[in-house]
Amino acid sequence: MRDVKPRVQPALQPVPDRLRNFDEMIQGYALEDALEEARRCILCKSARCQGACPLGNRIPQWIAELQQGRFEEAYRIIREISPMPELCSRLCPQERLCEGACALGIKHEPVAIGLLERFVCDQNRARPNGVDPTPATAPMTGSKRVAAIGSGPASLAFAQAMARAGHRVTVFERWPKLGGVLRWIPRFKLPSELLDAHLAMLTRMGVTFYTNTEVSWIESLLTDEDFEGVFIGIGASRPSMPQLPGESLKGICSSTEFLVRTFYSREELPNDWEPIADVIGRRVVVLGGGDSAMDCVRTALRLNAAEVTCAYRRDEANMPGSKKEVRAAKEEGANLQWLTAPVAFHSDDGRSVSQVECLRMELGPPDASGRRSPKPILNSAFRMEADLVVLAFGYEVESVFDNEHFFLMAPPKGTVRANPNTGATALRGVFAGGDCVTGPNLVCTAARAGLTAAQHMLRYFAGEPWDVLTAAPVVGSQA
Ligand SMILES: Cc1cc2nc3c(=O)[nH]c(=O)nc-3n(C[C@H](O)[C@H](O)[C@H](O)COP(=O)(O)OP(=O)(O)OC[C@H]3O[C@@H](n4cnc5c(N)ncnc54)[C@H](O)[C@@H]3O)c2cc1C
Repeated sequence: MRDVKPRVQPALQPVPDRLRNFDEMIQGYALEDALEEARRCILCKSARCQGACPLGNRIPQWIAELQQGRFEEAYRIIREISPMPELCSRLCPQERLCEGACALGIKHEPVAIGLLERFVCDQNRARPNGVDPTPATAPMTGSKRVAAIGSGPASLAFAQAMARAGHRVTVFERWPKLGGVLRWIPRFKLPSELLDAHLAMLTRMGVTFYTNTEVSWIESLLTDEDFEGVFIGIGASRPSMPQLPGESLKGICSSTEFLVRTFYSREELPNDWEPIADVIGRRVVVLGGGDSAMDCVRTALRLNAAEVTCAYRRDEANMPGSKKEVRAAKEEGANLQWLTAPVAFHSDDGRSVSQVECLRMELGPPDASGRRSPKPILNSAFRMEADLVVLAFGYEVESVFDNEHFFLMAPPKGTVRANPNTGATALRGVFAGGDCVTGPNLVCTAARAGLTAAQHMLRYFAGEPWDVLTAAPVVGSQA
C-alpha cells in the first residue's frame, strides 16, 4: 500500500492581519509546497476529478506536468480548457466538485486541486517569460457581429470563445463596471486586478465593451443593430426579499447593496447609494447561509463592526455555502447562529432598525431539494440587537426585456428558457446561459454555459437549423 503524505497546507494571512485588510486570506503555495502536493496525486486513469469539473478541466494531465516541474506545459493544458482559470481556481467550491471526487479523498485528504491550479496560474503570471494567456484568434474572414448582454462569467466565456473563432463580439453591461457578480465578490476572495487582467485580455482579442448600457429590446439587436447572434447572460441579480414586517426600516439592505457600496467608489454608485467605508462599532446581523451571506459577514468584520452575527434557518450541515468560507468566518470571529429564522424587524426610534426578531427552528423531513426543511419551535421567539441588517436570502432573475414572453418562465423564478444542451432560446439566433437560466449557481457553471452557447452559435452560423438546436426538451432549470 502506497504511503500517502498529508495534504500540504497553504500559507494563510494570520487572523489579526486579515481583519485589517482586504487582501487574499490564502497566500498560495510556494514552489516546493506545490511540487510536494502535486506528487500526492496518483494520476488515476478514471480521472473522476475531471468528470466532476463543469468545465472538464484535464486535471491529471496538467498535474502530471506539474509533478515534473513543467510549469509552462501545465498552464497550457489548463488554459486550453478553462476560459478563466485564474478566477475559477480561487472561486470554485472544489470540495463539492473536483476535490469532492478525488480518488485519494476516499481514504485520505483529497489532492488540493484548486490550490495547485492557482499556483500554476500565479506562477505563470509572475514569470517574465510566462505563457501569454491570450488565445490566438482565427482569421476574421466571414466574421459575424455577435452581442452578449451582461458581463458576468457566462458572457465573458462566451465572448472569449466567439472572439477566438474570429467573430466580432460586443458586450453590453448595465452597471458602470464590468464583470457581473465577479466585480463585487470581496477582494479577499478575488483580487480585482485578476478580473481587470482578464478583461484586458478580452479587449486585446478584439471584444468591445459598453458599460452603463441596459439592453431591453433583444429583437432590435438582431434587426436594427445587425447582430447575427445574441447571448443573454444577465445573471440572477435581483435579491430575494423576505417581505417581513419592518423590512423598510433604515439600516436594512440587501447583500448586493452592502457589497457594492463597499467595493464601488462614490462616482460608480447609483445616486441614492452612499459608499460604506466602515461599520465601526456597529452590530451587524447577516441573514442567510449561502456564499453571499459569508461574503457579507467577512466583509463586515474587515470594516470593523463591533460584532457580526449570521443567522441561518437550517443547521451547519445543511447550509448551502462553501464549508471553507464558513470555517474562515468562524476563525475571523463571526457569531454563527444556526436554526434561527427572522420573523420581523423592530426599531427603537421608529426610523432605524434596532432589533431582529427571530424564531428557533428544528429540522423536519427532507424537502424537494433533498435538504431537511426547517420548522419553527413553538414559543421560541427572541430578539437580536442590530444597527445594520444585511439580507442575503439568494437571488432571482430580473427581466428588463420588452419581448420577454419569448424567454421567461412564469414568476416567481422567472428564469430564462433555453435548451440546456445548446443554450438556444425560442427566438432564432438568440442563446442564453448562466445564472439567468439555472438560477443562482457558480462561476464555473456560468462559464460552461457561455462556452456551450458559443459552440452552438458557431454551429448555427455553419448552417445547423434552428429547430435542431432547440429540439432537445426545453427546460428552465431550478435554482
Ligand atoms: C456575493 C456573491 C458571492 C459569490 N461567490 C461565489 C464563489 O465564491 N464561487 C462561485 O463559484 N460562485 C459565487 N457566486 C455565484 C456566481 O458569482 C454567479 O453564479 C455567477 O457570477 C453567474 O454568472 P452570470 O454570468 O450568469 O451572471 P452575473 O455574474 O450575475 O452577471 C450578469 C450581468 O448582467 C448584467 N445585466 C443584467 N441585465 C442586463 C441588461 N438588460 N442589459 C445589460 N446588462 C445586464 C448585470 O448587471 C450583471 O453584471 C457568488 C454570488 C454572489 C452574489
